[in-house]
Amino acid sequence: MRVLVVEDEVRLARHIASALTEAGHDSVVIHDGEAALHEAAEASFDLIVLDVGLPRIDGFDVLRSLRARHITSRVLMLTARDRVNDRVTGLQLGADDYLVKPFAMQELVARVRALGRRYAEEPALNLRVGDLTLDLANHEVYRGTQPVELSPRELMLLKVLMREPGRVFTRTELCERVWQHAHEYDTKLVEVFIGRLREKIDLPPLIHTVRHVGYTIREPT
Ligand code: CA
Repeated sequence: MRVLVVEDEVRLARHIASALTEAGHDSVVIHDGEAALHEAAEASFDLIVLDVGLPRIDGFDVLRSLRARHITSRVLMLTARDRVNDRVTGLQLGADDYLVKPFAMQELVARVRALGRRYAEEPALNLRVGDLTLDLANHEVYRGTQPVELSPRELMLLKVLMREPGRVFTRTELCERVWQHAHEYDTKLVEVFIGRLREKIDLPPLIHTVRHVGYTIREPT
């Protein structure tokens, strides 16, 4: 599984990552909530190991934002022993499981494995705008019943737009999310890729240009 580890204690984060690697998972380590949101939005993770006690944006706020953005990665929260309410709060906000600190690494690995099984059993969500469907599990796109062939970047761009229909994204924002960098001159890339998406999927149009701002995708009115 692809796992995002969000933990501000650098040593603990490193231990978690190496335990996960040993168990055959791919992990990315992030030390604060803001960066975690960014990372989770642009790369898809099967699971997020999320510490509650983080600087600036705490784990609960991260979780809240993830779910608000329809990011459906499984979430395993790490909570402090003396904060019983934290477990309840986490689960209410949409966490899938929690682990109380301090914990044994083998316990964490076992929980991750269990969540992986649960993940495999549950059908992944489809993103849908009008009659456009993006199947997140199989990375397939359909306009009505017509399958559409997209390149990985085109797919990623479409996914970013479709996760938040109606939201206007600036070119810079899209560039950051899809290409992980944003220089002024790179925003031309976004225009090119939007053009390709339009050619491939956009009749009748769902992707709209917002003058002087950027792009949005929305249901036909
Ligand atoms: Ca912490």
